[in-house]
Amino acid sequence: MPNPPPDAETRRAVAPVICYPTETLPVPDMALYHAARAGMTRIAEVTVPPREAATFRVPAGHFFRITSVDGPQVGDLNLWHAENMAERFYSGKSRALHGTHLTAGHRMWSCFPYLRPMATITEDTLDWYGIDAYGGSVHDVIGTRCDPYTHNLLSGGQYHHCCHSNLIRALAAETGLSAAEAEPHVHDVLNVFMCTGFTRDTGQYFMKASPVRPGDYLEFFAEIDLLGALSACPGGDCSAEHSSDAAACYPLLVEVFAPAPGALNGWEPAPVNGYDGGHGLG
Ligand SMILES: [Zn+2]
Repeated sequence: MPNPPPDAETRRAVAPVICYPTETLPVPDMALYHAARAGMTRIAEVTVPPREAATFRVPAGHFFRITSVDGPQVGDLNLWHAENMAERFYSGKSRALHGTHLTAGHRMWSCFPYLRPMATITEDTLDWYGIDAYGGSVHDVIGTRCDPYTHNLLSGGQYHHCCHSNLIRALAAETGLSAAEAEPHVHDVLNVFMCTGFTRDTGQYFMKASPVRPGDYLEFFAEIDLLGALSACPGGDCSAEHSSDAAACYPLLVEVFAPAPGALNGWEPAPVNGYDGGHGLG
């Protein structure tokens, strides 16, 4: 262990600054979204079976809602632009902009070179949870998704119903792509209903039993035309383990809603990011 420098405590005592102050971040017009959702109509629904995934499509200006049914269950959510799968959810930048866990008013941002809002969270029935004594909170953008590679690395074996594989199968079925073609499109998720954090002493990623109960939901406004895929994680409520069939698992309900007629007059999807893409290459 190297000796600390004489001014170690002084260096540690420097106060942090927020990396991305959000004063200049475009603010979603929540009043407009709430007016549009007040008279919305359900136009589609899909039930995601336990340890499987399902896809759904949401036109820009519509809403989608993920609801817990039957029992506590977490879901792993991927989003793509419906007509251009190269534009997909960017978990890391959404984390950098909003924090480790998302709730109402936060957005799911797309990857470079697009970097624009894909979806805005309009309702979160678990927003009462806040941050618990362990530093845990709900709906994280810090985990990635359970996957058969990490499972094999740590435990050996071949398990085919991790969220990563569930999302591949669902995306392949939706698009006609082969599993090998679909796999590179699957990306780091929004962990819907999952309760997670980092331990204070070792900084390790932890999970604990989700506080979600049947009837709880997370609802989004689609800022662009979306293709979504949601996996009902084999971890169930993620209180003990994932990447096996050991945990009790339940379905998740996804519903799509059309906005109140006329409520979004004048609203338009955000344009793609304004950077010119030059990268100094002149
Ligand atoms: Zn999972």
